[in-house]
Amino acid sequence: MLVSRIQNNYYYNKPVSKCTPHFEGNPFRKIHIRPEVDKVTLRKNNSNPKSIEKLYRFLKFINDMQPGLIIRDEKISSKVKTLLEIKFPFFKGLKNEPEVSFTQKAYDEMVEFMELKGVAPKKIETGEEVAEALNLKGNSADAWRELKAGNENICIVGYNYQFGRIVCDPLFPTLDKYQKLYIIAHELLHCKQHVAIIRTEGLGTKALANNIARGNVSIVLKSGNKIAQAYILQMLKKGMTADEILRKIVNNATVSIEKDLNGIHANALELPKFKKNSKEGRQAKKYFNAVKVYERWNPVNQKKYRSNRLEKEAYPYGEAVSGLFKIYSALK
Ligand SMILES: [Zn+2]
Repeated sequence: MLVSRIQNNYYYNKPVSKCTPHFEGNPFRKIHIRPEVDKVTLRKNNSNPKSIEKLYRFLKFINDMQPGLIIRDEKISSKVKTLLEIKFPFFKGLKNEPEVSFTQKAYDEMVEFMELKGVAPKKIETGEEVAEALNLKGNSADAWRELKAGNENICIVGYNYQFGRIVCDPLFPTLDKYQKLYIIAHELLHCKQHVAIIRTEGLGTKALANNIARGNVSIVLKSGNKIAQAYILQMLKKGMTADEILRKIVNNATVSIEKDLNGIHANALELPKFKKNSKEGRQAKKYFNAVKVYERWNPVNQKKYRSNRLEKEAYPYGEAVSGLFKIYSALK
């Protein structure tokens, strides 16, 4: 999910007069920059999210120190261009993509780039009331509606693994290409996180279904639903303990939700599984723990929302992809 105040300053900042930083490791072995920039060493590497962020931070850093340098200096410009075209082969085509087809093109390219072909939703749905479309209830849904009513410059977007949908509010079509790409990359990273859970042995759609079931049961119980109360009473009379009843309700709900999820994520379930103790499996476990404590954005939980692992990865990733595309687009 993403709530974004629309802004246009991804990488411009005040110039710094003198600085000689040293960067170690991927994607740069060592970089020396002086105000006159006599040496810039870039090393290409694979396309994992982390290194994309490092690359973006580095180029942003150069731009902050010497605004416009990457564009003006022919040597640096050509190096950056080559590097970005190796890392993001689709930037070239996307740069010239007409406004009218940009969203779908950018979406399709990012799906391919993030290796989500066949498992991500087919498109980013725009123009809907997000809380409504994603069937959100409670505090967050109200907060989103109030936020939207009070500030027309806020674009609300949501990915929901239960429905396998990415939905953006009506502001989305009016955003510029960089803002659109920012949102697309952010939401697709959420999709990738959930696909990782689905592919991991011991987690999968069952674990996700159980998480939804727990949430739903808690909402129903809190709401004082008469049918639920009657059912609980009946089970108590049969001699079941409260814990046993709760477990039974959650288990029944899990089975039914899991069936739905298996349909929606059928393609992801076809992918080779991640072993529980593999690097990917351990990462997926962390994602799942984050799903369990995930709270959708609302005005009082902003810190908790932004520090959740799922968002902590998605915000900088979206910003990096978008920022790099902006840098690329400015090059001759
Ligand atoms: Zn998000």
